[in-house]
Amino acid sequence: MRYFPLFADLRGRRVLVVGGGEVAARKIRLLLESGARIDVVAREITACEITGSVTWLAHEFEESLLDGATLVIAATNDTALNERVSTAARARHLLCNVVDDAERSGFIVPAIVDRSPLVIAISSGGVAPVLARLMRERIELLCDESFGALARLLETWRARIKRGLPDVTARRRFYETVVRGRVADLVRSQRTGAAADEIERLLASNDLAQPGSVVLVGAGPGDPGLLTLNALRALQQADVILHDRLVSGEVLALARRDATRIPVGKAARGHSVPQQRIHELMVEHARAGQRVVRLKGGDPFVFGRGGEELEVLAQHGIPFEVVPGITAALACGAYAGVPLTHRDHAQSVRFVTAHCGDSVDSLDWQSLARPRQTLALYMGVASLGLIGERLLCHGRDPATPVAIVEHGSRPEQRVTVATLDALDDVARRGGIQTPALLIVGEVAALAGQLHWHGEPPRRWEPLRRVA
Ligand code: SAH
Repeated sequence: MRYFPLFADLRGRRVLVVGGGEVAARKIRLLLESGARIDVVAREITACEITGSVTWLAHEFEESLLDGATLVIAATNDTALNERVSTAARARHLLCNVVDDAERSGFIVPAIVDRSPLVIAISSGGVAPVLARLMRERIELLCDESFGALARLLETWRARIKRGLPDVTARRRFYETVVRGRVADLVRSQRTGAAADEIERLLASNDLAQPGSVVLVGAGPGDPGLLTLNALRALQQADVILHDRLVSGEVLALARRDATRIPVGKAARGHSVPQQRIHELMVEHARAGQRVVRLKGGDPFVFGRGGEELEVLAQHGIPFEVVPGITAALACGAYAGVPLTHRDHAQSVRFVTAHCGDSVDSLDWQSLARPRQTLALYMGVASLGLIGERLLCHGRDPATPVAIVEHGSRPEQRVTVATLDALDDVARRGGIQTPALLIVGEVAALAGQLHWHGEPPRRWEPLRRVA
């Protein structure tokens, strides 16, 4: 290890910064958070961020300025001057950092992830800053803002926990439970009061068995890049994942490697697991103390039966969280180049389920057929013709553009653009596969111009039958 890692307490100590430009300003911003007394020596200060709480010594650098300093930072664009500062500091056994010049530096400043009081410092010793940055991004991802809040909460309980659990081993087990279990979950859901109650309960009962929980997670439409950070985190902490058929393999690949994956959308021979059984599986695994992720395509609250599943969990007193996902309408609109609203064409958008059977007849076709709105119809592949026919019957213009987006956001995405009166023909001859979303409205025509993902849309010309 070339550099010795350490965290310095700079409160009230003097730090000398040489230089008044952007580079100096960046270092000063961080130093200010440490409570250091900062003297900036520079003939001119050009960075507007250097303000009030620093002392500006408006003259040349001279060695006597190093007197009484704890650290020195040379941040000028004059290499010779930086070197002079560095040499003078070394002669006085002072640690000096020359920004972006590890050779002349007595210490280097790491990349950090700040979840104060938890701070993670990363350094490649100046050898591969890109790798250090990559690590930082990964840690940022894994270590959400709630870690800081959790650390602050534990700080307030520290003395009581120590008194309640004088044995070091017992105390360590207690902390392990707190940071991995329910308390951390509650802090993440912004329920600090309940988290404190839970610490109190754990201390009083010393029963460290953790209840299981369920996170209802929206996996988005398929492109793993559309997962939220919270979804990724839940996947990486899961013990058990109950996933739907619509969840893409790329998304599942991001889950913790040793999590048990249970497909509940459609089993090998095409039978789906009954909803009742899904409820039982969630409850059973959570009762066994496991962290269950119920992973659904798109968003769990948009035609996803997420509400029903949470009702069951609530009835059984099982703690749950919800992570929203990008629903098919938003993803298909974006990836097909179809803005769902547009000042010239559509003032509203409606998400409609067109599951064949009874639900098609129970829809309010009168209002769905009104102009200047966009319809996003889910689960409509089997009833494309029927949908077209109903909308026409209720007066929507036959020339209204429609777009059918199959496998939206995935590599195999295909977009078909047609007009409303051609929907029946597309349904019969277009070979449309599920999952597909039907978009009805003037905006659908924009796909021809605004497409950017996958193949350009195919333009459907219906066969006109002449009797
Ligand atoms: N909860 C999901 C919807 C489930 S209903 C969501 O929010 O997206 C299933 C329907 O969603 C499918 O029949 C299809 O109409 C639509 N759908 C889901 N993923 C899709 C995708 N990648 N491309 C096109 N349509 C999709």
